[in-house]
Amino acid sequence: MISIFFIVGLIVGSFLGVVNYRLKVAENIVFKRSHCPKCKKPIRWYDNIPLLSFIILAGQCRDCREKISWKYPAIELMTGLLFAAVAWKFLGGWGFAGNPEKIFSAGDAIEMAFWLFAVCYLTLIFFHDLSYMLIPDVAVYPAIVITLFYQYWKYLQGPLGIATLKNPFVSSLFAALIAALFFFALIWISRGKWIGGGDVKLGFLAGAIAGWPKILFVLFFAYMIGAIVSLVLIGLKKKTWKSQIPFGPFLVSGILIVMFFSEQIQFWANRYLNIGY
Ligand SMILES: [Zn+2]
Repeated sequence: MISIFFIVGLIVGSFLGVVNYRLKVAENIVFKRSHCPKCKKPIRWYDNIPLLSFIILAGQCRDCREKISWKYPAIELMTGLLFAAVAWKFLGGWGFAGNPEKIFSAGDAIEMAFWLFAVCYLTLIFFHDLSYMLIPDVAVYPAIVITLFYQYWKYLQGPLGIATLKNPFVSSLFAALIAALFFFALIWISRGKWIGGGDVKLGFLAGAIAGWPKILFVLFFAYMIGAIVSLVLIGLKKKTWKSQIPFGPFLVSGILIVMFFSEQIQFWANRYLNIGY
């Protein structure tokens, strides 16, 4: 089952790779056949198999030998792995393995659908910011709306009143505003040198997904990974201290870590930081 989700993820990732490029050049996303950006020849169906084609073609266009970006197989692999991880979380792994009586309810299906959707737009934002230093509004705004709807649906499932931070919807909105304000303050202090306006929107989305206080862990992981990757890149002389490094991929990584390891983080936070949530 998990391997089926991996393969579906590869195919979805292949589509996301095309979306990533076409968002930039403002091409029609759905109703146009893929072609090589250099020689404009259409890509044959057998050269369009996720991961495999890139390997078989040795990363080159069959017609003009133009190099194909490594980002295409990378998007496919990331989406495939995340789809497999979602399947593992909902259909195997922690949720079901230790609890054979648990049945997969309609609520679980909605939750799982939201997760699959979330990993798609997070992957797209990750690679768009990495490729073009830009967080696409057309991805981030619908994502925010759908995430808030999802959190409202979660609130309707539970017994909690509206006026508590434990209510998923309130917690999500509160965390979103805090994160957006935090990034807005950073822009204001640095006069736009550290991060861009897209990060404010992505910060809002991060808060909406993670909720309060988990958004703090998202920021923690984002900055930690950001610092490590930046130091490695500077060490390898690929970047200098003055280079602009997009922050979106780090923020997305932070969101994904907190999504998938929420239970573990909660356990450690309770145990060592004494901040139960
Ligand atoms: Zn070509």
